[in-house]
Amino acid sequence: MQPATLLGLMMIAACWLGLTYVLSIEHSKAVSGATQQADNLARLFEESIVSTFKGIDRAMLLLRQAYERDPAHFDLREWTQQTAIVGDLTLQMSIVSADGFTMRSTQLGPDKAFDGVYVGDREHFLAQVDATTDDLSIGRPVTGRLSGKWTIQISRRLRHPDGSFAGTIVASLDPGFVERFFEAVDLGPQSSVLLRRLDGVILASHGLKQVVGSQVLLPELRGALARSPSGYYWGRGAVDGVIRLIAYRATERLPVLVLVGLAEGHIFESYWRNRATYLTIASIVTVLVLIAIMAGIRHQMRIDRIRDDLRRSEAQARLKARELEVTLDHIGQGIIMTDADNHVPVINRKAVELLGLPDSFHNRDNGALLGPEVCDLLGADTPVPENPVYQRTTANGAILEFHQTPLPDGGTVRTITDITERKRAAQEIVRLAHHDGLTGLANRNLLHGRIDQAISRAKRQGEGFAVLCVDLDRFKTVNDTLGHSVGDELLRQLAERLNDCARDLDTVARVGGDEFVVLQANVNHMDEASTLAERIQQRVGEPYRVAGNHMTIGTSIGIVLAPQDGMNVDQLLGNADLALYRAKAGGRNTSCFFNADIEKAALERHRVERELPTALEKDEFELFYQPWITFADGNFSGCEALLRWRHPERGIIGPGEFIAIAEDIGMIGRLGDWVLRRACRDAAGWPQPVKVAVNLSAAQFITGDLYGTVIAALAASGLPPDRLELEITETLLIDDYEGTLATLHRLRDHGISIALDDFGTGYSSLTYLRQFPFDRIKIDQTFVAEMTTRADCAAIVMAVAGLGRSLGVDITAEGIELHDQLMMLRAAGCTDGQGYLICRPQPANCIAEILSAPGTITSIAS
Ligand code: C2E
Ligand code: MG
Ligand code: MG
Repeated sequence: MQPATLLGLMMIAACWLGLTYVLSIEHSKAVSGATQQADNLARLFEESIVSTFKGIDRAMLLLRQAYERDPAHFDLREWTQQTAIVGDLTLQMSIVSADGFTMRSTQLGPDKAFDGVYVGDREHFLAQVDATTDDLSIGRPVTGRLSGKWTIQISRRLRHPDGSFAGTIVASLDPGFVERFFEAVDLGPQSSVLLRRLDGVILASHGLKQVVGSQVLLPELRGALARSPSGYYWGRGAVDGVIRLIAYRATERLPVLVLVGLAEGHIFESYWRNRATYLTIASIVTVLVLIAIMAGIRHQMRIDRIRDDLRRSEAQARLKARELEVTLDHIGQGIIMTDADNHVPVINRKAVELLGLPDSFHNRDNGALLGPEVCDLLGADTPVPENPVYQRTTANGAILEFHQTPLPDGGTVRTITDITERKRAAQEIVRLAHHDGLTGLANRNLLHGRIDQAISRAKRQGEGFAVLCVDLDRFKTVNDTLGHSVGDELLRQLAERLNDCARDLDTVARVGGDEFVVLQANVNHMDEASTLAERIQQRVGEPYRVAGNHMTIGTSIGIVLAPQDGMNVDQLLGNADLALYRAKAGGRNTSCFFNADIEKAALERHRVERELPTALEKDEFELFYQPWITFADGNFSGCEALLRWRHPERGIIGPGEFIAIAEDIGMIGRLGDWVLRRACRDAAGWPQPVKVAVNLSAAQFITGDLYGTVIAALAASGLPPDRLELEITETLLIDDYEGTLATLHRLRDHGISIALDDFGTGYSSLTYLRQFPFDRIKIDQTFVAEMTTRADCAAIVMAVAGLGRSLGVDITAEGIELHDQLMMLRAAGCTDGQGYLICRPQPANCIAEILSAPGTITSIAS
């Protein structure tokens, strides 16, 4: 229970206890006052009654004395007048004879005896008749037979001289004397005064109507009298039911009781009034206090409820805070909240870890203070709005990125991300973006950037530079035969050597599988570039040892000089490439500076590339035929189809200028098909058994269905397969495309002859001769051209001719221009001959004519 409630209840209790006490005192006071008053009145009344009755008794005793002296002559009226003894209270006095008749009365005439009024039956008479003592007798109030009024009659015995009964003296009293006596006294409403005989008969009363004569003796009175002859008691009026405090006295001198009753209403009038007032006040006070208590209780309940809610909210908030903490601890970012004084109300584990704080920091409740080093690392002094994001490096080298957000109370929330890895990865990406993954050299991007910078320098300061395109000879063979890991290792070693050759200000880049570019800075003369090229070729050309393999690599180098050969990156690299091709064409391990010829050739090639694709549709191609003779009989045994492009502006263009380009631009398949069909068709019109020989490109074996095309061409022309000869070069076998040999076999099986063209220009490996049973070997014209002047050439021609003979293969010598050559070749044992000396390549329509008139040619041969 709340103290305020307790106090309130105590106030109420004290109020009512006090009230009860005060009321009990007032009650006691009222009762004692009333007792006192009633007692006093009763005493007064008793005194008055006794004196009244004694006075009358004395008068009656005097009268008896006078009468008994001479009863016969006693004159009552005269005696009454002489003695004036009968007072106001006495209505009459009379003398009654022994036989009960009234003989004399103060109300009748002088000495006149009247015997008409008999009172011998009255109580006051009967009481004296049998009396043994001479006592005053008081009778029950009756209506007087002489006076005709209510009277109390008291009597004394008359005695004869012998003492016998001689009658009675009777005095009649007006009961109203009591009324009159108490008229002056204020007893209060409903109070009563009674005069009773000892047997209870009421002799006189005040305050009660019509009770005189009645005999009611209440048990309360009887009980009280039994206890004491005088006293008081509370009683309820038998007639009116009013409760009274009654003081009673039984006087010793008379056989009567006096009773004075004060009505309860009178006694407690002021007490009750006060009590009502006090009760009202106390009730009001009680109600007010109770209202206050109730308000207090309700207020308390509300407070309790709010407190409960608060407790619940707190618990919930704690739970949420815990959940938040767990969440914060499980995110990969650090989070720290600082207040304006660098205290840390919130920090997660990651932040503790990233900032290198002690573990205990995390668990500390509000108020952990950051040290100056951590503040420094955290950038606590970094102005927030200007730097929402910033980075710091920790003592152990980790790079942290901070995002900071100001709080309204002056604090700051920061997220911390460890970006060390990200940074490293970004740097790695930048490195990878600019470097070759395998060799670590610069890549094409970086090279372009460096060339751009060099161009800028050249423009600004006139500082020239060189770009060297380095291509490895036969690297593909290494890769294919020894595997990629060996190839990769070779490239790494080679890259190191290239780096060794270059200066720090130069850039060495790898721009393709086996293509490297060196940007040589600050070059003002081509000698400097050629020196570097030589150094590279010498250094790179030294033997390598990779995974137990010894190998050497040759290099071809194309060189451009800036600014003279170009002033933009693509142009410079493109020109260097052209120079490189030229170098490669010049043989292995050579270098070549870019020059005007190369440029012209490149332009030419570019033009061909542009015009070639549409030439077939425009029907600009045609076949020339060059016949060969068989030395044995001097007859034309076949014609080789040689492709020509009749260009509308440039006239006839030979195959050397466009076949390679047609191969490069993927057009050789279509073009080859056209040649096959046209050659077969033309040959079908020639005299039998003249053959037609068609040159094939390696590309025709790779793309398309060569076999199908050949068969279709034969079928379309009606040419028998044994009149078709196909010429391939060594390169087809070197490249060793899958299915090449199988196709050749199928074609040969079909009856078509296969010839190996340009023998002696490539590797001229005898292995190839074993790989496929050629029908013919054509000795390249370079040997023929020089065989008359160079002994080694003649020896080779002789050897090949001998080889053919032993293998049973026809040997054709190409490019015979001189008669001596013809003779030597025949002598060497070649079976066939072809060349300008015999017949230049001829348009299709001319060749048919030549074939039908072979005489002249045969004579040349013989
Ligand atoms: P090839 O097959 O070795 O052809 C012989 C070449 O030597 C021809 O040159 C021919 O005109 C030339 N020639 C013949 N006799 C003499 C001579 O006495 N002296 C000199 N200096 N040259 C002589 P052409 O027509 O320019 O053909 C060059 C090459 O182009 C051919 O060499 C052949 O490999 C290729 N070719 C020609 N036509 C075709 C074709 O339709 N398809 C393919 N794939 N290649 C062809
Ligand atoms: Mg040929
Ligand atoms: Mg040839």
